[in-house]
Amino acid sequence: MIYQTYDTYRKALLSNQTTVSATVKSFIDNIEINKDLNVFLEVYAEEALAQAEIVQEKIINGTAGKLAGMVVGIKDVLAYKNHSLQSGSKILDGFKSQFTATAIQRLLDEDAIIIGRQNCDEFAMGSSNENSAFGPTLNFADKTRVPGGSSGASAVAVQANLCHASIGSDTGGSVRQPAGFCGVVGLKPTYSRISRWGLAAYASSFDCIGPITNSIEDAALLLEVMSGSDQYDSTVSQLPVEDYSSVSASEKKYTIGYFEDAINSEGIDYEVKKRTEDKLEELKKAGHTLVPLSFPKMKYLLPTYYILTMAEASSNLSRYDGIRYGYRTPKAANLEDLYKKTRGEGFGKEVKKRIMLGSFILSADYYDAYYTKAQRVRKLVKKETESFFEKVDFIVSPTTPTPAFKIGVKSTDPMEMFLADIFTVHANVVGLPSISIPNGKNANGLPIGFQILGTEFGEKKMLEFALNIQKIN
Ligand code: GLN
Repeated sequence: MIYQTYDTYRKALLSNQTTVSATVKSFIDNIEINKDLNVFLEVYAEEALAQAEIVQEKIINGTAGKLAGMVVGIKDVLAYKNHSLQSGSKILDGFKSQFTATAIQRLLDEDAIIIGRQNCDEFAMGSSNENSAFGPTLNFADKTRVPGGSSGASAVAVQANLCHASIGSDTGGSVRQPAGFCGVVGLKPTYSRISRWGLAAYASSFDCIGPITNSIEDAALLLEVMSGSDQYDSTVSQLPVEDYSSVSASEKKYTIGYFEDAINSEGIDYEVKKRTEDKLEELKKAGHTLVPLSFPKMKYLLPTYYILTMAEASSNLSRYDGIRYGYRTPKAANLEDLYKKTRGEGFGKEVKKRIMLGSFILSADYYDAYYTKAQRVRKLVKKETESFFEKVDFIVSPTTPTPAFKIGVKSTDPMEMFLADIFTVHANVVGLPSISIPNGKNANGLPIGFQILGTEFGEKKMLEFALNIQKIN
């Protein structure tokens, strides 16, 4: 038997109801049975089993860490020393990490067990996991549908019970959107709360590492372990880390904002809208105050996000030149040819598109028209968002405008695909924390997510509110 949340599992471990080894074995079996989902690119079975023995010993001796025996999968964008790291791309073929990401090291230091690396959209660019060089991952709720992206497989791993938790990355929603599509919890912290050391860069001023879990409590615990200052990342916050894991539901009444126009816009699926409205009604009945907000600048969120992330990506991905990392074309006639062919053969279509658009955005003639302007809009949006938070404690929305869509239906229409991120990119544009929690299912059994946007470094309060919402159910 697998205990899905860490609290129940830890109790079972301490009372000898189960062992770490038995749990790791069960997960390995589940992964094998569910191979068709295409979640794990690699399973570290032997290592995980060996580590399980060591952790079990520590539990017996009373020296085990906060995450003793927790089985965690990591998205293929996080460095784990001496293990392959490919960012879902052919261009990193054969590359092995020379060090471990700070966030992952902190999990190991607390005795978590890393079970393997998980499929994702190439360089975390995508909303459906269809952009991976390793093929799409399937949604466990309906295998004809996408799991979301880019941490799609990380969400399915938790949804399909292949590990206790996954660690993903969220640049524009990549933790929360798949969590919403898969009916699990996904947390994006405040920008700079968790060190980005060892995270393959997509858009550095947006990238955040975040947990995907079965429970809000587990997300809080993982956040607590991974957060905090780090000598290897100069952008990480020096603020002390709160004891997120001590969070519990409360009777506190909050003022909750929501964007009325967004919820009523025509792009929203009927059942998503209904579920969100029902949730707002429940919150009102529970004594919270609801405040409709008008946010005309919302229409600039997606363009701002995509202009800036493509610009940053074109710069970040220039390092993959066939010399320093992974794949190198066997067919080059000279150095320039080597760069061109390696990149031409190594990158997938979506990544190439973004590198080209990003280079255009940053080119001398268009820099001001696009990049500078988008930076200005980012600032304006941040200001306006701050003004909302003078009136409200949280802003809530559906996580996504629709439930998980069918594999293949949006991959040919980039605009349609980008719209899947309409509610999630806001948090990344302004750097605020946000969480997606399950909000039931539609008539076809597809999960629907509910998203909370909190204030800067207000993770603890946001987690408490998430628990309060859960209690109402
Ligand atoms: N879907 C968004 C994109 O393609 C978000 C990705 C992410 O958060 N990594 O950029």
